Amino acid sequence: MRRSILLVVTLCLSLTVPAFAAEPAKAGKGGEEAHASKDAKPGSYEDWCGEHGVPDSQCTRCDKALIPVFKATGDWCQKHGLPLSQCLKCDPKLKIVRPPKGSN
Ligand SMILES: [Zn+2]
Ligand SMILES: [Zn+2]
Repeated sequence: MRRSILLVVTLCLSLTVPAFAAEPAKAGKGGEEAHASKDAKPGSYEDWCGEHGVPDSQCTRCDKALIPVFKATGDWCQKHGLPLSQCLKCDPKLKIVRPPKGSN
């Protein structure tokens, strides 16, 4: 009896852990800069977090200081710990598009 319980637990763990681990690992595809430089203009091509697929100046996962700003404007998904405007889990149709090079 005890053996089968252990088996179930191990199965559950092996199913959930890779799903979590897979997400943040895919940083900087193709040698592209993962993060914007400090002097990148907000809303420009350079202002982009390649790791999280959002403008770097609005990336709460890279800059935790932004979290209260989003919360204050009501743009916050409590469930997923992300701005609602960036929460693909709540809105899978959401498209965050990188501005084209040379804009601004
Ligand atoms: Zn980021
Ligand atoms: Zn959400």
